[in-house]
Amino acid sequence: MGETLRITTTGLHGGHPALDFVNTLDWRDRSTAEGGPEDMLVSYDALLACWRRLGIVGTATEGELKRQARRDPSQAVTVLGEALELREALHRMAQAVRQGKEARPVDLDALNRCLLRYPEARVIANVSGGARLGWKAHGDGLQLGSPLGAMARLGADLLVSAEPASIRCCAGPGCGWLFHDTSPNKRRRWCSMESCGNRAKARRHYQKHKA
Ligand SMILES: [Zn+2]
Repeated sequence: MGETLRITTTGLHGGHPALDFVNTLDWRDRSTAEGGPEDMLVSYDALLACWRRLGIVGTATEGELKRQARRDPSQAVTVLGEALELREALHRMAQAVRQGKEARPVDLDALNRCLLRYPEARVIANVSGGARLGWKAHGDGLQLGSPLGAMARLGADLLVSAEPASIRCCAGPGCGWLFHDTSPNKRRRWCSMESCGNRAKARRHYQKHKA
């Protein structure tokens, strides 16, 4: 057993790892005049850091994949391209679920391609307090794209199980972040009160005082 993992969204605002992955294209709805979107996934290493943040890989697997990427940089670029394609497909599919529409076949194909190309390479192990998913001893069949399979599976789980009303888009202008709202009345409006919520409050405050 190489390492055990705990999928985490603590400190992030998507409420689900698949949506936190989707939100790595920041300011998705911001116009070009205002600076346009900002992509956090600018390299394979940045992608690994995202997977590590979400608990999809641990430190040992991240280190091993970094070494593999140094040995095969062109494959790392290919996997980054596949990850961005998966992310955008997940974004459009989550938007379709939210709006009660059918997903586009091209997006379904992108998701299914990842599921088939990168079969589950993680295994279940016992840890104190219960069982946990983990990567097999590293180097054992681990490829640069292996975590992409795990990412695709998390996305598929969300898309097949989420109530349409529970997938929401932040009301902050230009923000574009999606989040999974599991509150009973589904009334959350902002990705986070500290960022978009407070900006909106400040704007209202300013407009009131201007009037
Ligand atoms: Zn927001």
